[in-house]
Amino acid sequence: MIKIIRCPSCGEEIVLKDLYEGMEITCSLCGYTIVYQNGKLHIMETNEEFELEELASSNKDETEKELEEEELEGDYEDYYDY
Ligand SMILES: [Zn+2]
Repeated sequence: MIKIIRCPSCGEEIVLKDLYEGMEITCSLCGYTIVYQNGKLHIMETNEEFELEELASSNKDETEKELEEEELEGDYEDYYDY
């Protein structure tokens, strides 16, 4: 199962093609090392722990953002309606 998480430091998307106890994940952008242990993602640099769901990339948010942008564009159209 492929899972996509976002780096807690820089927000870079990290694709997890595998997930097992003790697995080390390195962010290609900022170099943070994330270790999957006890069912949580442990950030080596900061000693922070995150649930997998907390860092999981959500496509829903992106869709909502796109909708908001569309609404803004609609407002701009009104300005040029003269
Ligand atoms: Zn990063």
